[in-house]
Amino acid sequence: MKMASAAAAMAALMIFAGCTQRPGLYKDTRVIMGTYVTVTVSEEDIGPQKAVDAANAAFDEISRVDRLMSTYKPESQLSEVNRQAGIKPVKVDPELLDTVQDALDAAAATGGAFDPTVGPLVRAWKIGPEGGRIPATEEIEKARALVGYSQVAVDKSGGTVFIKKKGMSIDLGGIAKGYSADRAVEAMKARGARGGIVAVAGDLKLFGRKPGGGPWKVGIQHPREKDAMLASFNLTDAATSTSGDYERFFIKDGVRYHHIIDPKTGYPAKGLVSVTVLAHDSYVADSLSTGIFVMGPEKGRELAGRRRDIEVLMIDKDGKVFATGRFIKLGVKSPNLGQANPE
Ligand code: AMP
Ligand code: MG
Repeated sequence: MKMASAAAAMAALMIFAGCTQRPGLYKDTRVIMGTYVTVTVSEEDIGPQKAVDAANAAFDEISRVDRLMSTYKPESQLSEVNRQAGIKPVKVDPELLDTVQDALDAAAATGGAFDPTVGPLVRAWKIGPEGGRIPATEEIEKARALVGYSQVAVDKSGGTVFIKKKGMSIDLGGIAKGYSADRAVEAMKARGARGGIVAVAGDLKLFGRKPGGGPWKVGIQHPREKDAMLASFNLTDAATSTSGDYERFFIKDGVRYHHIIDPKTGYPAKGLVSVTVLAHDSYVADSLSTGIFVMGPEKGRELAGRRRDIEVLMIDKDGKVFATGRFIKLGVKSPNLGQANPE
């Protein structure tokens, strides 16, 4: 993740539209991990000063995770792992080791749709806030040859990560936001916070209660209308993540090209426009929302049906809605995706 994405910021901010001016809530937004991070803390029981302390601890924690896992920081441990690709295993913090392992597990669970080695393809497309480019076919093929999570070896007892093939790299962009939200909530709790929300772009982790005792409310963004929500629901002590084709994209000759790449084709994943995953842990919701988005409607449904630990809401390119668990009760109607809905 590099530049702040206006769309992602909007998604995160919309979620809190209902609680901006409420008394008893402390809220702050900063740019970390190249995106907007919003932390909300209930001041109830702990008072305003402790709420500020808890929020600062959350931001510090997210910055710490970023320093460890960013591929945009040459001094990060992950950057060193990438530099030593094809050369030697690198000793890393147990935390980074575990996250790489979690990413490999997500890859296995999604049949390689989620792939932490997708970096060369993501870089070829250069899809960011300023748009992007369509790489030449040869460039895509070259990048594709450098993608494949089976080339990553995690040695738990030795504490090392090794990328076996030169030129390959690990990019935790599809899991690190969620992981950092998990860590940030732990940091807030350690400071005595009793209720709060951490939102790292579209990745949210919530705990405890709002001032007054009510549950937190989460909104699901309309995939084509900036200020509209499809539904909202109560949630606490859980995480949600949304992956959408509207977050980072450009349109060329009527075709929408977005930032979630199918490692098998080398092109932006087709079939779905939005996937929301609810899970206990934010890193699970984050990686599986990206993974299911790539899997597409059919395989995504299969995975959603198999996994007891997640709930899924998917919207396909025709606006058709598929929901599991409590998302069914929301009764989300097919959104109008309008004319400008190129695949
Ligand atoms: P998200 O917005 O959470 O779905 O994450 C998208 C980010 O994950 C992108 O900006 C890339 O850094 C990375 N990414 C894109 N495609 C994939 C993929 N197939 N597997 C894993 N990570 C991906
Ligand atoms: Mg995700």
